[in-house]
Amino acid sequence: MLGGLAPDGGLYVPQSWPALAPATIASFAGKPFAEVAAEVIAPFAGDWPASGALLDMARAAYAGFGHAAVTPLVQIGPDTWVLELFHGPTLAFKDVAMQLLARMMDTALGRRGQRATIISATSGDTGGAAIAAFRGSRHLDVVVLFPDGRVSDVQRRMMTTAEDDNVHAIAVKGTFDDCQALVKAMFAHRAFRERMRLTAANSINWARIVAQTVYYFVAAVALGAPQRKVSFSVPTGNFGDIFAGYSARRLGLPIEQLAIASNSNDILPRAYESGVYEMREVVQTSSPSMDIQVSSNFERYLFEAQGRDPEAVRAQMGALAQSRRFEMGAAHEAMRRDFAAAAASEAEVAAAIRRVRKESGYLMDPHTACGMVAAEKALAKGRTPRVVLATAHPAKFPQAMRAIGREEAELPARLAKLMTDRERATVLPAELAPIERHIEERVRAAKETSR
Ligand SMILES: *Cc1c(COP(=O)(O)O)cnc(C)c1O
Repeated sequence: MLGGLAPDGGLYVPQSWPALAPATIASFAGKPFAEVAAEVIAPFAGDWPASGALLDMARAAYAGFGHAAVTPLVQIGPDTWVLELFHGPTLAFKDVAMQLLARMMDTALGRRGQRATIISATSGDTGGAAIAAFRGSRHLDVVVLFPDGRVSDVQRRMMTTAEDDNVHAIAVKGTFDDCQALVKAMFAHRAFRERMRLTAANSINWARIVAQTVYYFVAAVALGAPQRKVSFSVPTGNFGDIFAGYSARRLGLPIEQLAIASNSNDILPRAYESGVYEMREVVQTSSPSMDIQVSSNFERYLFEAQGRDPEAVRAQMGALAQSRRFEMGAAHEAMRRDFAAAAASEAEVAAAIRRVRKESGYLMDPHTACGMVAAEKALAKGRTPRVVLATAHPAKFPQAMRAIGREEAELPARLAKLMTDRERATVLPAELAPIERHIEERVRAAKETSR
């Protein structure tokens, strides 16, 4: 959890998969979300933290959500439900895992008497979720680099209105790619990295995946699991959320079908069809959080699908870096067995938003609509309940909704202050030296190590 990426550049995976007995899964029925979270996560936590402490952290993490069920299910058709994952402080599903991760990291660092600095480059969503989760943390500072003038007003305000001393929002005079290159350069700058105790909280952090398995259990049990199987359609970018679904199945949850839902950036559905994983240029869509060329967490699945053979994965990752493609080999057959997959064009996304609004009154955001399109294309209709993961609130992407011709959704009342609160950000050029200097001046870990 504290390391994020493994030192050899690979991703951490559990040494073995724990199993939850059907009776344990059945006992989740009617329990508060935080209690299920503590029970599902405990087998991965070893003897740390004590189970009571885990439950306390989960309760604190989810107390601020805008819905008492944390991740409520809404029925939108005879066999179709939406699983709303957007009731956290930044209106997108990343809050669910990030709110708990922040508390777990803070506790672990406190126990070790250490400090660390979370650093994140963001095109909009992740930075806000990280700030909302880590603000006020006693042992962590959070630094977010975003491209000045290239994020939406709501997204920017979610990063610039936190008043806590440990939050440092930097508006970079450049693009998202510049921000990402700067963060990479800071991690590569060893003296700086060690002085700041840099760490990351992106979706390659295994603790985030584990925290995301929880809502698959909560939703499936509400619909009759473990006696009844349930299918899910998951709007996918970095493959983190859907790998959490795969993990829930490995833990014992009877999931019938698990659909990878992509937008026009369809590397995964193409690999599913052809057996070749091949990069193309990223195209901009109405679901920007899924505009991704390479799905980092797919590496974890390749490891499982090839009998946990690290050499096979290493060869594929090497080929990807060299020639932007690799052959799936034995992993292709496994992928066909473990998943369904479908991509949604921009026209299909718009049509799905309009159709669902007309048929059931429900207003979906464009990310969720990709999940809806994939559910229609790839999940069997009939007796198995189909659950579409709603990964963002429609008020978070007003421009996309306007372009589709849908009325703008209103921000939830608890966010009303967001648009009038005072903003605080430092604007800096896209250059390493001034940004590092600024961070050194602000971050507490730096002050501590220089003492
Ligand atoms: C991050 C994100 C996704 C993609 O999730 P992954 O875990 O990266 O696959 C989908 N929708 C929204 C709104 C997101 O913020």
